Amino acid sequence: MTTKVTILPDPTINIAWRLDPFVNGEYVRGDGEPLDVENPATGKVIATVRQTSPQQLENAVSGARKAFDSGVWRDPELRRNVLTRMADLLEERAVEFAAALVQEVGTPVALCQPLQIGGPLTLLRYLAERTVIDRTRHLGGDQRPPASQSLIRYEPVPVGAGIGAYNYPLMFVISKACTAMAAGSAAVYMPSPQTPLATLLFGEIARDAGVPEGIFNIVIGGADIGAALSSHPAVGKVSFTGSVNVGRKVMLQAGLNLTDVVLELGGKSAALILPGADLENLALPLHSRYLRNAGQGCQSPTRHLVPRADFDDYIDVSRDAYASIPVGDPWDPSTLAGPLISQAHRDRVEGYIARAEQAGGRVLLGGGRPREQGWFLNSTLIGGVDNHSEIARNELFAPVAIAMPYDSVEEAIAMANDSDFGLAAHVYGPQDQAMKTAEQMEAGTVYINGGGQLRVDSVLTGWKASGVGHEWGDDGLAEFLQAKHIQWTI
Ligand code: NAD
Repeated sequence: MTTKVTILPDPTINIAWRLDPFVNGEYVRGDGEPLDVENPATGKVIATVRQTSPQQLENAVSGARKAFDSGVWRDPELRRNVLTRMADLLEERAVEFAAALVQEVGTPVALCQPLQIGGPLTLLRYLAERTVIDRTRHLGGDQRPPASQSLIRYEPVPVGAGIGAYNYPLMFVISKACTAMAAGSAAVYMPSPQTPLATLLFGEIARDAGVPEGIFNIVIGGADIGAALSSHPAVGKVSFTGSVNVGRKVMLQAGLNLTDVVLELGGKSAALILPGADLENLALPLHSRYLRNAGQGCQSPTRHLVPRADFDDYIDVSRDAYASIPVGDPWDPSTLAGPLISQAHRDRVEGYIARAEQAGGRVLLGGGRPREQGWFLNSTLIGGVDNHSEIARNELFAPVAIAMPYDSVEEAIAMANDSDFGLAAHVYGPQDQAMKTAEQMEAGTVYINGGGQLRVDSVLTGWKASGVGHEWGDDGLAEFLQAKHIQWTI
């Protein structure tokens, strides 16, 4: 199920919607500190957003609880109709969303539709349809005295909280807030303070689609509001996407109330190239897979494991691939890789590269900055480092990969799994052998020869330090449901 959206590149569209929290069905003037949002391609401030104050956060959570208790959102047909209408409106206003996303995230306009809008839209339509599924399980009778019957109902947590990372704003508001809403919960969602603009436009979508007051709320803030939201005793589930370090804090904050969490965290995914893989045909899709969105994608394959005998050939085909992935102005339709999100992030990434070089690593391809304005970094492939080096152990979240040779497939599988992370693995090679290899990967998702289109009916989950719980599919929806066993004597 894929939804098509056509987006015309139009850098002239202004950000003309309210840049305030959206609470109880309307935008309310944020009482918190103003927050500047920067265009990472220029380094210039493009908008100032008013943040939510602690009191306004209280209002949002208590309003959500009140809306849930009113029973207005209990009707599955209403939920289906409203979420479908939200999807229709998102599709109608895709150009405005694209304008915001290109400007705040720096995603190239050529990729904005599939990466930032098409996937989230498909998920929203999927969620709308899953609202009406009757999940009740009838266990039947138990004849042991006293004879009884049982059923299991799945009921929504009253208030679901969501907190998103900066790289895919629409995907996060939908995979958290709209999933909670599909389950029947009221939602309070906080976007990344680095990229709140498209999410705030989503408030208009919710309002115009007829989401009942209080069922969908957007709060704006950083660590303070995020901590207050995730530790709020009225929140029944916290769904978080972000870094391992902040995820750990969110788990502790929610844990104070014994509130359950979904954590979608970082990765350092291996791309295991098997002997016999078609190097020439895999190079461009593989490099594109992490270079798109300037490497700021959680499942990015950034540890390339290459048969020693093929290593030089792999670098040769990779050189051609790098040359056909232009880095530059996100509004240029030929650009395929834009900037990093901030100066601080680029400094951090350059620090990793410099330390890798000091430790004996070499930049094999790319490297450096394409221009001085904005937070750009050229695509960079590093060699001469091993799987225990700093750059192999840490997520850079940048257009930077390392290539390491291996001597046997067993060694390569061990290297792929020798990581604190377990978000994704990518295997390239003959299907039979790739399937056997996939079965041995310690990761929540394995892509063979690039996989296919986004499957919103699958599951997104991280093993090891990459996460807790699920998103997408029925497993994701079930995160906002709690089981209730009802038993009666007959
Ligand atoms: P981050 O962890 O710095 O921030 C994420 C969010 O947490 C932001 O909204 C931030 O304001 C908020 N926050 C900060 N401190 C908080 C606190 N104490 N309590 C509650 N919230 C708090 O992450 P980022 O830099 O925005 O995003 C990059 C990270 O996200 C990478 O590690 C990437 O791998 C990860 N990510 C994971 C997935 C996935 O599905 N697994 C998807 C995308 C991104």
